[in-house]
Amino acid sequence: MPRPNPRLVMKFGGTSVRDLARIRNAAEKVRAEVERGYDVAVVVSAMAGETNKLVGWVREASAGPEGGAAFYDAREYDAVVAAGEQVTSGLMALTLQQIGVPARSWQGWQAPLRTNAAHGAARIEAIDTDALDRKFEEGLHAVIAGFQGIGPDGRIATLGRGGSDTSAVAFAAALGAERCDIYTDVDGVYTTDPRMEPRARRLDRISYEEMLELASLGAKVLQTRSVELAMRYRVRLRVLSSFEEGPGTLVCDEDEIGEDSMESRVVSGVAFQRDEAKVTLLGVEDRPGVAAAIFGPLAEAGVNVDMIVQNISEDGRTDMTFSTSEDDLPKALKALETARETIGMREIVSDRDVAKVSVVGIGMRSHAGVAQKMFAALAREGVNIKVITTSEIKVSVLIDRKYLELAVRALHDAFGLHAA
Ligand code: ADP
Ligand code: ASP
Ligand code: MG
Repeated sequence: MPRPNPRLVMKFGGTSVRDLARIRNAAEKVRAEVERGYDVAVVVSAMAGETNKLVGWVREASAGPEGGAAFYDAREYDAVVAAGEQVTSGLMALTLQQIGVPARSWQGWQAPLRTNAAHGAARIEAIDTDALDRKFEEGLHAVIAGFQGIGPDGRIATLGRGGSDTSAVAFAAALGAERCDIYTDVDGVYTTDPRMEPRARRLDRISYEEMLELASLGAKVLQTRSVELAMRYRVRLRVLSSFEEGPGTLVCDEDEIGEDSMESRVVSGVAFQRDEAKVTLLGVEDRPGVAAAIFGPLAEAGVNVDMIVQNISEDGRTDMTFSTSEDDLPKALKALETARETIGMREIVSDRDVAKVSVVGIGMRSHAGVAQKMFAALAREGVNIKVITTSEIKVSVLIDRKYLELAVRALHDAFGLHAA
């Protein structure tokens, strides 16, 4: 039996497949890897802007002629939005064939990539690679529609926005690929979003832990769940540009980062989330069970609560503040109004003009004073901090949204992250 070829997953994001010329450019990169001896599974996103357009149609169709916010059926949302990736997978397979690379497209249900029942934000449960394995043996490379799979109800299920990254890592793990290359419109993972701070620096390597924090704190270069999966299955993940040559960034184990850079890097990056909202319940009765009375109804309403602070109490009453996304704010306020009697409070106040900024770094485990340095840098710029949370490798603060750019840049500078 001849030895099977090593495998590689190559994922192309929306801007990398925006039109036929870009698809051809991506296909050439695939051909280069095929010529190096790899069996390649290409994972594609929808053309840039396409998913937003499809989501817009779903909203409009669900709202009816009167417009306004509408409930929409998540199964039909999935049926519509998965169409973007169906188109690019077929076009990529055709383009590869045209340049002499034998390829076949696969939709999520065909592979199959099986998910749970959470339409719109489904989690991957299993990937059966038997059919793909057989096609590789026949010399046929695979083009897989990212972002989609098949739910237990036999219907298409999508993995949440940015989910093609997660498809790519999941296929890399299931196929035993040597590496998972994420091709995008930046040439790697930067110390912060280069659109926000032009002096941001590309990192050669970043640990899974730090990347996971950066992604979950707002750095959309990789979907959070893709990093979770890469960490769990030890998938070597590389982020690189579709348009420029370069080494990109390797997301890898902490001990592969190297002593020197670890020592000098207390903070590796600054992440931010622009569209946050803050809610304060004033004059809440300070008694056992009150937190449960507040956060129970919020959880039932599907509100994602992020930061929480409770003030010290005075005369048996206290204030409770939490943050959530601006999108979830109407749901949160409705749930709290409904539970008002059981909670027992004076007033609800909300603020939708806030943003969250975080500094992340594994060096924080061994270096004290990061939070202090962060607060001092923000104070110098006159930025008031509304809520603070910390974990082992990050410090996050909630601030007025209008100071977001200023805060990101000030922190990037204070922690010495600027490019030389
Ligand atoms: P794709 O369509 O290829 O999946 P995305 O738009 O989802 O691309 O992600 C790439 C974008 O992520 C970049 O254009 C950049 O603006 C943004 N980004 C945010 N934080 C970072 C970061 N720390 N490093 C690099 N890019 C980042
Ligand atoms: N096309 C999907 C989105 O825009 C998935 C992806 O690109 O990763 O969210
Ligand atoms: Mg993306």
